[in-house]
Amino acid sequence: MVGMKTALVTGGAGFIGSHLCERLLAEGYRVIAIDNLYTGSRENIAPLAQNGGFTFIEADVCDLDSGRFLVPGHIDEIYNLACPASPVHYQAAPLKTALTSAKGALFALELARTSGAKLLHASTSEIYGDPIEHPQRETHWGNVNTIGVRSCYDEGKRFAETLASDYRRTLGVDVRMARIFNTYGPRMDAQDGRVVSNFIVQALRGNDLTIYGDGSQTRSFQYCTDLVEAMRRYMALEKPALDGFFASHGLGACVLNIGNPAEYTVKELAKKVLKMLPSSSSRLVARPLPGDDPRKRRPDITLARELLGWEPRVQLDEGLAKTIEYFRGRV
Ligand code: NAD
Ligand code: UDP
Repeated sequence: MVGMKTALVTGGAGFIGSHLCERLLAEGYRVIAIDNLYTGSRENIAPLAQNGGFTFIEADVCDLDSGRFLVPGHIDEIYNLACPASPVHYQAAPLKTALTSAKGALFALELARTSGAKLLHASTSEIYGDPIEHPQRETHWGNVNTIGVRSCYDEGKRFAETLASDYRRTLGVDVRMARIFNTYGPRMDAQDGRVVSNFIVQALRGNDLTIYGDGSQTRSFQYCTDLVEAMRRYMALEKPALDGFFASHGLGACVLNIGNPAEYTVKELAKKVLKMLPSSSSRLVARPLPGDDPRKRRPDITLARELLGWEPRVQLDEGLAKTIEYFRGRV
C-alpha cells in the first residue's frame, strides 16, 4: 500500500460515482466510497468490493463531522458527488436534497482544508436554470427560480458553488468545480426517472415512451466514461495553473462545463431510442411538463477543451447502444 494514492468519493455507490471509483481503482488508487444508498446501490459497487483497495462506508454526508472523520493515512483527492440528481428523486425529498448539497459540500471542503487534499465538487448545468444564454458559458450567471420545485437541487448546488468559491478565496482550499451536463450510461437505476433511462426501459418493456410537454425542449447528452475522463484530467492539474487559467478567462473560481455539446430535442431522443429497438411495440405519449423544466441546454466546452485537452468521444448512438445493452439484461 506504500506509495498508493487515496481518493475519497462521496456518492460513490451512485451511477457516476461507481464509474469514477472503478476508474480510480484501475489507476491504482486506494478508494473510499461514502454513500447513504438513497439512490445508489450495493449492486453498483459489488464488482469493486473484490478489489482490496476499495472500502465502502454506508453513511449520510449530512451526519459526518470532518473533524472526527478518520481515514487511515493521507487523503490525496476528494470527489464530492453525494446528492440525488434525478428530478423525480430530488423532488421526492426536497429538504434533504438542499441540505445534502450544503452540508455535503461543507463536509468535503472542511476535509480538504484539514487534510490538504485536492477536491473536485460535482456541480451541475442546473445552476443555469432556464438559461438566458445559449449555449451556456461558465460566465453565465443563470436564471433560477428560487422558490420552485427544482430549486432544492438548483439552489442547493448554487450554494455549494458559493461555499466552494469562498473556501478557495479565503482559505486557499484547492477546490475545483465541474458543471456536469446530462450524463447517462450503464448503472443508471431503472427507476431513476431521468429521460434516457426512462425511454430505454419503457421501450424494452413495450410501454409507451412518456414525452413531457410537447418534447421540443432540448438537452445535450454525455456518456459516463467521457465525464470520468474529464474529471480525472481536471483533478490532475495543480492549483497555480488552475488559478491562472480561470483568472485569465474572467472567472473568479475554478468552474468548468463538462458535457457533450450535441443537442437533441426530447422527441428526437425518443425517436432515436425506438429506431434502435425496432421490435418494440412502444409509441410516444404526451404527459404534462413538470414545473420549471428548462427549455434548452447545451454546454459551451471551449474552456474544457483548452484546459484539459479533452473532447467527448462517445456520441449518442454509441452511448445509447451500450446503455440499451446494460438495461436489456435487467428489465
Ligand atoms: P445518483 O443519484 O446515481 O448518485 C448520487 C449518489 O449520492 C447516490 O449513490 C446516493 O445514494 C448518494 N447520496 C445522496 N444523498 C446522500 C447523502 N446525504 N449522503 C451520502 N450519499 C448520498 O446520481 P448521479 O447521476 O450519479 O450524480 C452524481 C453527482 O453528479 C451528483 O452530485 C449530481 O448532482 C451530479 N450531476 C449529475 C448529472 C447527471 O446527469 N448524471 C448532471 C449534473 C450533475
Ligand atoms: N423527460 C421526458 N420524459 C421522461 C423523463 C424526462 O420527456 O420520461 C424530459 C424532462 O421533462 C426534461 C428532459 O426530458 O425536459 C430531461 O429530463 P431529465 O429528468 O433527464 O433531466 P433534467 O435535465 O430535466 O434534469
